[in-house]
Amino acid sequence: MTIQMPRQTEQPHGRDVPTSSRYVYAFDEGDKDMKDLLGGKGANLAEMTRLRLPVPPGFTISTDACRAYLSTGEEPEGLEAEILVSLRALEERAGRRLGNRADPLLVSVRSGAKFSMPGMMETVLDIGLNDETVSGLSRRSGDAQFAWDSYRRLVQMFGKTVEGIPGERFEGVLHVAMRDAGVTAEADLPVDVLRRVVREFQQIVVETTGRPFPQDPRDQLFAAIRAVFASWNSERAIAYRHQEHIPADLGTAVNVMAMVYGNLGRSSGTGVAFTRDPATGQRGVYGDYLVDAQGEDVVSGDHNTIPLAELERLDKRSYDRLLGYMDRLEHHYRDLCDIEFTIERGKLWMLQTRVGKRTAAAAFVIACQLVDEGVIDLDEALLRVNGAQLSQLMFPSFAASDADELAATGVAASPGAAVGHIVLSSAAAQAATEPVILVRRETTPDDLPGMIVAQGVLTSHGGKTSHAAVVARGMGKPCVCGAEAILLDEDACTLTIGDLVLRAGDVISVDGTTGRVYRGEVPVRPSPIVEYFESGAVPQGDEVVAAVDRLTRHADRVRRLGVQANADTPDDAARARRFGAQGIGLCRTEHMFLGERRSLIERLVLASSDDARKIALGELLPLQRSDFVEILRAMDGFPVTIRLIDPPLHEFLPRLEELIERVARADATGRTDADTEHGRELLTAVERIHEQNPMLGLRGVRLGIAVPGLVAMQVRAVAEAAALLVREGLDPRPEIMVPLVATVRELEAVRPELERVLASVPDAPPIPLGTMIEVPRAALTADEIAKEASFFSFGTNDLTQMTWGLSRDDVEGSFFPRYFALGILDVSPFESIDATGVGSLVALAVAKGRATRPDLRVGVCGEHGGDPASIHFFEAAGLDYVSCSPYRVPIARLEAGRSAVTASVSDSR
Ligand code: ADP
Ligand code: MG
Ligand code: MG
Repeated sequence: MTIQMPRQTEQPHGRDVPTSSRYVYAFDEGDKDMKDLLGGKGANLAEMTRLRLPVPPGFTISTDACRAYLSTGEEPEGLEAEILVSLRALEERAGRRLGNRADPLLVSVRSGAKFSMPGMMETVLDIGLNDETVSGLSRRSGDAQFAWDSYRRLVQMFGKTVEGIPGERFEGVLHVAMRDAGVTAEADLPVDVLRRVVREFQQIVVETTGRPFPQDPRDQLFAAIRAVFASWNSERAIAYRHQEHIPADLGTAVNVMAMVYGNLGRSSGTGVAFTRDPATGQRGVYGDYLVDAQGEDVVSGDHNTIPLAELERLDKRSYDRLLGYMDRLEHHYRDLCDIEFTIERGKLWMLQTRVGKRTAAAAFVIACQLVDEGVIDLDEALLRVNGAQLSQLMFPSFAASDADELAATGVAASPGAAVGHIVLSSAAAQAATEPVILVRRETTPDDLPGMIVAQGVLTSHGGKTSHAAVVARGMGKPCVCGAEAILLDEDACTLTIGDLVLRAGDVISVDGTTGRVYRGEVPVRPSPIVEYFESGAVPQGDEVVAAVDRLTRHADRVRRLGVQANADTPDDAARARRFGAQGIGLCRTEHMFLGERRSLIERLVLASSDDARKIALGELLPLQRSDFVEILRAMDGFPVTIRLIDPPLHEFLPRLEELIERVARADATGRTDADTEHGRELLTAVERIHEQNPMLGLRGVRLGIAVPGLVAMQVRAVAEAAALLVREGLDPRPEIMVPLVATVRELEAVRPELERVLASVPDAPPIPLGTMIEVPRAALTADEIAKEASFFSFGTNDLTQMTWGLSRDDVEGSFFPRYFALGILDVSPFESIDATGVGSLVALAVAKGRATRPDLRVGVCGEHGGDPASIHFFEAAGLDYVSCSPYRVPIARLEAGRSAVTASVSDSR
């Protein structure tokens, strides 16, 4: 039965096919670096062939052919002929021919794209069997049961994969046959039963397709190849690509290889193996083996596999060989490999290998192990891990068991585990004394205070980019969005999910990592990685923490980009510093006007005279000053970039609808107390400042120009706070940042007043004045703006909104999903910087700004500052630092280090 090992030296290499129209490559013509053309599986099969590992002979049809097929719906010119030539060569090597009645060659037709998409596309095994060759195979092998089992598999797989017949049709027949025969494994079915099953399967094919199961092996082969091409665009493949950000236009390669048989009795079998444990990174023998089985059986979960280590007992020779090959592969690839193998009557065959997927924890551990083993250096180790993995390790997790009751599932919008009592409004969340989960249909900026105090957020509407999702991710707060099964009744204070009714006050557990929502309290494990960043201590014997510590510290050594934090409170500033931030890149001042201070803002807005305004500002000054003192103290010695007030004023005032109702009610009841009068005044003011497009309205620097004294008060507060700390002997380094500048004239307009204030505060250190670049016009005129600004900070959220003309909070829930489905967008430009569009503005502004002011400091403070892909862009664009939320600081440090080691991101998919 055994196939001869390919005699490589005797094989003709280049053939007389012009390279331009060449679509097919024999396994000994490729190598591991040809993944674009041969797909990952094909390239690695070629590499193993080069390493002279026992790989059954075969060839790979390139991704070019797939792309051509998908664009026209037909095989490209010449492909069929090329395949037939390659098939000839394969037959020569295997020493048997497809369709030969006495001794048939069987082949598998396997998908394999550049990036592994496990189980997403199709594979057909045992091609070449028909009503006649099955007898030949039976005689040659001396095992009729094996031959008919293989035929049974072919018709089943062909029917399902090529003809699209639902798998259950076949499984149903098989189960009945097994039950009647009293066996638990398909391979144990008696021959006569297998024959009957094959006939019934063929019947199913005719009935559903109107065509008989093809008896010509070449028809089988070409139909299978076309089915694999087409499987690139199957629904699940498309969904997987979207999830993993794999481009839609790569196409898959197709590998045709001689079958080897793991289902040839007890001395045969099939298995999977890992060179290290993909869950923890531990060295050892990891894998599963299944005796007398073929292909998918071992991973399908409904067979009794044995641990790989037990193979030693069953077949020591094959076992030792396998371990030897695994060792060689690991050394060759210099990384964890996973392997598919088959043993045919005591002979080991290698069917697949690749650098294996692993958990986030294992990635860190393995990278450090390989450094210690002298296989890679620390720079390379840094490229073997990434920020997404680190962020996964930083979330607390649920230890859910079967006993926990799943109530609903939604979109896993912001990872982490949260437990709390249900509250249905922001106000209720703020009033609560116990931990709460804020449950809303969807959230708006009004819910922000509630979100801040809640443990987690759950919405019944909106997706990964809804307001709730974006804000929760920014806060590092667990969030599940779009749990559509939940019906919210705010009046009754209930959520109904099918038969289940939950009330405000009931405890739920929200898993933002999986999108699951549980009734009651599921136990939570805090992240040891966060505990490490908080304390700086590496617990004895914790390999994962030790690896994270080692690699983040190495990233700090090699990175060029500075990492700062977006922090508005002393607590956040202190945490950011513990997490490794070298300053605050964005300290927003508007949060400081909420709560009790709202009334002061109201008075400022209502002020009818200069004096009234001055009094209101005078009361705000000491409050602002004390805010800054503690933040500057927490970041002593590092820059703290304080942004002057940015949002439109109405955000600090009661909502228009609320005021209208309040006044109308007073009118109806004829009340005329002070409160009502105040309401009336506010209503007039809110109506006056009401805007159609507030985000494009009176905000940012425009406010500073329109409301006399407001930003002067802020700047005075900053300078006085700094002066106070200087007198304490500290080293405060505040910087003032002006938001939403579109023209240098705006800066010219505010600058003199700010400088006057700064100069008037004794003991204040020098405080630089800079600006945000977040309006496209500012980027376009950055050379002029740099004359008045000593630093730039890109506000990439607004810059993206204004460059695309998209309102983030509106579009992400409405039509973005459609855009993803149609491939108009691969990833939201609010998640990862749009390098071609918004990125051009960034690059232009950097160049223009530095042309005017060579020492111009440039950073970014939009959400992109903490996004791995964006960080690599900012490194390339020559920014000085990125600034992100405190919890993303370690991720930014790691990614900044990685981006310094190589400009091109190493792809870990
Ligand atoms: P996937 O990409 O889903 O893993 P594969 O193409 O690797 O699909 O094939 C599915 C199964 O069939 C694997 O277990 C593989 O090892 C097995 N298989 C593929 N080709 C052959 C072959 N020529 N001989 C024996 N088993 C094979
Ligand atoms: Mg058998
Ligand atoms: Mg496989």
